[in-house]
Amino acid sequence: RIFEYAPAPESRAAVRLRPGYELFVDGGFVPPESGQRMATHNPADEEHLADVAVAGETDVDRAVAAARRAFEGAWGAMPAAERGKYLFRIARILQERSRELAVLETLDNGKPIKETRDVDLPLVAAHFFYHAGWADKLGYAGMGSAPRPVGVAAQVIPWNFPLLMLAWKIAPALATGNTVVLKPAETTPLTALAFAEVCQEAELPPGVVNIVTGAGGTGRALVNHPGADKVAFTGSTAVGREIAGAVAGTGKRLTLELGGKGANIVYDDAALDQAVEGIVSGIFFNQGHVCCAGSRLLVQESVADDLLSRLRARIERLRLGDPLDKNTDIGAINSAEQLERIRELARVGAEEGAESWSPRCPLPEKGYWFAPTVFTGVTQAHRIAREEIFGPVLSVLTFRTPEEAVAKANNTPYGLSAGVWTEKGSRMLWTAERLRAGVIWSNTFNKFDPASPFGGYKESGYGREGGRHGLEAYLVHAA
Ligand code: NAD
Repeated sequence: RIFEYAPAPESRAAVRLRPGYELFVDGGFVPPESGQRMATHNPADEEHLADVAVAGETDVDRAVAAARRAFEGAWGAMPAAERGKYLFRIARILQERSRELAVLETLDNGKPIKETRDVDLPLVAAHFFYHAGWADKLGYAGMGSAPRPVGVAAQVIPWNFPLLMLAWKIAPALATGNTVVLKPAETTPLTALAFAEVCQEAELPPGVVNIVTGAGGTGRALVNHPGADKVAFTGSTAVGREIAGAVAGTGKRLTLELGGKGANIVYDDAALDQAVEGIVSGIFFNQGHVCCAGSRLLVQESVADDLLSRLRARIERLRLGDPLDKNTDIGAINSAEQLERIRELARVGAEEGAESWSPRCPLPEKGYWFAPTVFTGVTQAHRIAREEIFGPVLSVLTFRTPEEAVAKANNTPYGLSAGVWTEKGSRMLWTAERLRAGVIWSNTFNKFDPASPFGGYKESGYGREGGRHGLEAYLVHAA
């Protein structure tokens, strides 16, 4: 085991790390050719957790070559039902190791154990179970028009849901018969390496999954590699734009899951206490490091004061602190850089005249922390109403009519998510039909299901992940 785990209560001592970790290429752990390493830290206390390899071009080349061999060899020749069995096996091992993986994720990412244990890990396993079931339902042997896999997928993911984003990428790729080279984010590489070990335990044929750690340079080498048939990227809109430019004209398939500035619309007839729970989850779940966060609250003017006073009372009760404490609601910000980005936009919000409120909440001395913050008096011209903050910062705007609510909700370069709170079914449908967002929740927020497609409009990217739609990105239909 590369991560030793003592099945004790969730604690730092439960997981024993090695000082260094290698790349996962062709079924084994190998050092990077350059010998270059980078550190990963616990954002809650700045503890140095381990050093991981930085993959250079030669390493990426080897990983892509291994993926190609597997695609043209054992994996490509395998009957679909057999492929499905590997996914079921991976799903079961993930379940068996879920407590260890939850602790590891919390250490590397800073998110509360309550979330990794009760949300991230169950969803990760569910994603593999769901896709395992698809493997043998996409066509049958000898049928000329059965869809085929695209080939080698180059996949790059962010740090906010490290293992879950990995599952969203790898499960559909494998179910459809592709092979992958995946690069995790530089601040959260550990659970991807643990997943590599899960692949070994499942006896997945060598080369089907390869994990190359590193920073943006490794990601660039991977997506630009001529041996990649498909590129799947989740991350910032700026990097997504660069990748779209680099991939254009190469013939590679591309899906992009990018940023968001989701609106949570609360009408005057909504069940306000229920809405408060959705607003809190919408912006404080995972410290607001969520692409589909409900970072703009649009509340109907007549109930704004009432809703805001209930919201403040609820936020006062949130517990911020040690992410490994099972009572913690709000953990650490993932990195010093991300903390600085959040602070900068919060400063801008105050400078532009919005009024900020935070609960009395002492922040730990070490690590990266930001108190939950609510800005009121926000207008559509404010940067905090337009730019993705990717932190626990809520911008509150008001509206008078449903038409105004929809116009304000759609007034964003993004289009990933929205929430609508009303007891009137007709109003719910009227609003949902007019919102330009890939995911719309009604009287709830942040509900995920592997069977449901997820993706955006406009600068939130294109393509869908999850459900039948998500499989299409990894399939070619013969004529
Ligand atoms: P980021 O774009 O900086 O990094 C994402 C990944 O891309 C990392 O692995 C990084 O190393 C790599 N990378 C950086 N530069 C690269 C390059 N030039 N070529 C190839 N790879 C490169 O984003 P981040 O800060 O890690 O993540 C936060 C962003 O991700 C937010 O904007 C958030 O909204 C978005 N996100 C979107 C979704 C979604 O499904 N739409 C989900 C999660 C996060």
